[in-house]
Amino acid sequence: MNLMQCYITKSDCYKAGRTIVPKGIMLHSTATPGLMAEGWYKSWNRTGLDVAVHAFADDKIVCQHLPWNHRAWHCAGQANNTHIAFELCEPAHPAKDDAYFAACYANGVELAAYLCVRFGLKASQIISHAEGHALGLASNHVDPNHWWKYFHVTMDDFRTDVAARLKQGPVKVVNVPFAADLRYGDAGDAVRALQLRLNELRARLGLAFAPLAADGQFGAKTEQAVRAFQTARHLLCDGVVGAQTRAAMTVAYGDVNGDGKADATDALAILQAAVGKRKLNAAATRAADLNADGKVDARDAQSVLRQAVKKQ
Ligand SMILES: [Zn+2]
Repeated sequence: MNLMQCYITKSDCYKAGRTIVPKGIMLHSTATPGLMAEGWYKSWNRTGLDVAVHAFADDKIVCQHLPWNHRAWHCAGQANNTHIAFELCEPAHPAKDDAYFAACYANGVELAAYLCVRFGLKASQIISHAEGHALGLASNHVDPNHWWKYFHVTMDDFRTDVAARLKQGPVKVVNVPFAADLRYGDAGDAVRALQLRLNELRARLGLAFAPLAADGQFGAKTEQAVRAFQTARHLLCDGVVGAQTRAAMTVAYGDVNGDGKADATDALAILQAAVGKRKLNAAATRAADLNADGKVDARDAQSVLRQAVKKQ
């Protein structure tokens, strides 16, 4: 199970800091077709919001918004004080996408089994929002039945599958590091760090934009700089710093020997690699391909030299 902890530290529910002793798990589904697990953070991480669930799961990942023993606010009833709550994300075409349903459901089973082990719960202590309402513990919602009915799957099936999963041993968790996307209008230290990095990348890759003021405001100039970087690296040019762009920004372009500088020594290493006199490891190869054409050659060496000379 891929688990990303992205706590919604700005939300009132998070800040209230009330805890619960989990007595059960409540399963919800989002009724918001097409919005996947990572997409919820942005709108839920804000002040003035009491509503929160512990996690969102889709077919690939679980995004955890609150510590599991935090009191969430997910069902407008007593179960808020006793139940860990997670949402399964509905796909763009809930009635049709059976491959997605199968994968998302399986991820939900993994998450529920993980929580059962951690909090000493049984599969029989898992209920849906709809069941919570029938028990007088929650508001009148029908999730996830409005979605699951297309696949003839019930909460009894879910509990049976979780019980079976519990017999197979512990759920392996892969922790996925969290970093919020940065985009136009954002502000703060993360934007300041981005601007400094863009200025470095500008020097390393000869990107066409004027040096940015590191003012921590993601405005038009910063967006333009992000686009210039994305274009140079053949990434989707959307001006948003998401996972792909962030990964591409961590490469030490031009610094093939890893000494923190991009200079003539690196240019020489690139030339040697180009003629087969030197082997580069994967990180050095990424750093050496300055023009992003998939090859390490004399042109890359040339641009390292060009930028090094410009700096002097
Ligand atoms: Zn619900």
